Amino acid sequence: MRAVGLHPDVVVVTSRFWQTTCTLIRSGEEAFCLDSPVLPDELELLPAIAEQASFRVVGLLATHADWDHLLGRYAFPDAPLGIAESTALRLRNEPGDAQRKLRAFDESNYIERPGPLGLPGPQTLPVPGHCGLGERELELHPADGHTEDGMAVWIPWARVLACGDYLSPVEIPMISDGGSLSAYLATLDRLERLVGQAEHVVPGHGTPLDATRAAAILREDRAYLSALREQGADAPLPLARRTGEQRRIHGENVTAALH
Ligand SMILES: [Zn+2]
Repeated sequence: MRAVGLHPDVVVVTSRFWQTTCTLIRSGEEAFCLDSPVLPDELELLPAIAEQASFRVVGLLATHADWDHLLGRYAFPDAPLGIAESTALRLRNEPGDAQRKLRAFDESNYIERPGPLGLPGPQTLPVPGHCGLGERELELHPADGHTEDGMAVWIPWARVLACGDYLSPVEIPMISDGGSLSAYLATLDRLERLVGQAEHVVPGHGTPLDATRAAAILREDRAYLSALREQGADAPLPLARRTGEQRRIHGENVTAALH
């Protein structure tokens, strides 16, 4: 697991699994933990990393309801979870789904956890809207398309955008069950303005990016999705993301894009 400081108030931890990112955000005496690393030893280490940086984590945030972003509670069991209304709705409509998928992942990879994942009573945040942290405010922006739910978090004083599962340097755009191609493209349009103001962009999977690289990935992703809409299976994949696994995801996108 890698930890990098993007700003005195922003530390990003990247998991060894899927390069899933977790962003620690501080203002004054309080800090939030946005999304989560995947592996148990990483989650166990996370409180020490926060403490070492003098981040006192008082709350958890999640960009969307995919299970690999919801594990913060293993690191900070007492911190309440704040999520978009769209994410709360998804958790309500799919009760136990995140826990089931986590269990299936753990079983197939021989991973043991200290206990089952608890997600008691998350707090719903206004999206679009603001969320107070210390004396400052985070900006929350809708980010659906990858899934039916989602929010991107803009940290104005650090000029960092944590966007969830968009703008990944390692993964092509993924349209999951419930996601949609047109919503994905609309989210890219929304993110483009924020990327234009950003110093750093933290994708849900992959290393943090500078704004130039993030803008280039955004253009590639838009070109890929436009081609997917026009050409279906024949759409060319972004040049640096053409591995077997990305081709498999592309195959699933072709099916998902038809809905
Ligand atoms: Zn993800």
